Amino acid sequence: MGIFDYHRLCREGKIEVVPTKPVKSVEDLSVSYTPGVGSVAEKIKENNELVYDYTAKGNLVAVITNGTAVLGLGDAGVFASKPVMEGKAVLFKIFADIDVFDIEINEKSPERLAEIISSISPTFGGINLEDIKAPECFVVEKELKKKVEIPVMHDDQWGTATVILAGLYNALYIAGKDLNRVKIVINGAGSSALATAKLLKEVGAQNIFILDSKGLLSREREDLNEFKREFAVDMPVCTLDKVIEDADVFIGLSVGNTLKKKHLLKMSKNPIVFALANPIPEIYPDLAEKIRKDGILATGRSDFKNQINNVLSFPYIFRGALDVRAKDINFHMLKAAAEKIAEIARKKVLDYLKDIYHEEFSFGKDYIIPKPFDRRLLLEVPVAVAEIAVKTGVSQREIDVDTYRKNLKT
Ligand code: NAP
Ligand code: MG
Repeated sequence: MGIFDYHRLCREGKIEVVPTKPVKSVEDLSVSYTPGVGSVAEKIKENNELVYDYTAKGNLVAVITNGTAVLGLGDAGVFASKPVMEGKAVLFKIFADIDVFDIEINEKSPERLAEIISSISPTFGGINLEDIKAPECFVVEKELKKKVEIPVMHDDQWGTATVILAGLYNALYIAGKDLNRVKIVINGAGSSALATAKLLKEVGAQNIFILDSKGLLSREREDLNEFKREFAVDMPVCTLDKVIEDADVFIGLSVGNTLKKKHLLKMSKNPIVFALANPIPEIYPDLAEKIRKDGILATGRSDFKNQINNVLSFPYIFRGALDVRAKDINFHMLKAAAEKIAEIARKKVLDYLKDIYHEEFSFGKDYIIPKPFDRRLLLEVPVAVAEIAVKTGVSQREIDVDTYRKNLKT
């Protein structure tokens, strides 16, 4: 079936709402809606927490956008964003059995957007912000986190940062390098890049240089907004030609074809290159491989090895956060998710994965990150996230880890 038929045929779009209880008789009807539901409403009125026991709230995530940074299309608008948000809903459901309402809001002011989302937040157990442009996305997330006590995550920032960290843990392991010591160059200073820098710093990276379209984020620059300024370094303004010298890690979250042969040649031994611009990476891995045989390479594309794909992180971060009713998603939870994702790639590859992907693979420079259909992601990542949420005091519900792990299997 072609792409357009796929989206249009059977029933238009990719999602529908399905009741979870039978409504086949007059009795069913009176329990499901009035008069029966009235007593449930009364009970919840007395104790709001019971909304988690008697409604879908606890497993319902809002995927919310204002359509200002839709895939590579930029400010495509709320209607164009809808098929993308529906797609995200599908991923949440198939990978982590999380139900989603996609919500497209026609509002560009970040403060107003945070207000609107906060107003509709009682419906949901969590909020996944999506495809909101930088720097507004930073404001929306920060303001919203202040207003609500359910997990909020902007996936383009933190889902990306988490998968990058997972891949980086394994790439560094293979390269025999230490995260605290390596020189990291991040090309791009948008939503995904700045979040990645923040998470990397949080887990111990010390030596990070970021470039935007005008060059290095340097303290000498006067054109930087507060979000970029946070990462400005004490070094004169320069370009990638200079910053890339002796870099151990290049993370591209910018635009295609910006990492050249001359740059790769200046990187240190066993260079790690995550060229993640989509659909055209900063450098194609087949070209990079020819220039640096010792390189460890990843892209954002499914047609090359080592795909840094957010679907490895966001369903499971939310699964864990929802299951302990976390009030927030903190750095500890992202780090725990990244460590677990990395660990899964280091384990024996399950046979069914070789069938699905029609290839042989095992942990090494050509396989540093799990495949999306690895079921261990669902069985293990949420547990790691939930456990650390409890430990760091953001959970509102205790869990027995063994029982929780068993429940995820069924
Ligand atoms: P964004 O917020 O629009 O940021 C893009 C950044 O790239 C901006 O800071 C921009 O600089 C910078 N830039 C533009 N041209 C540049 C150049 N020649 N050299 C250096 N920097 C340059 O976009 P985003 O959401 O962070 O995404 C960035 C890219 O990463 C996209 O291609 C996206 O598809 C990809 N991505 C991949 C993954 C994944 O693989 N899992 C996840 C997220 C994003 P200014 O600030 O000066 O405009
Ligand atoms: Mg997105």
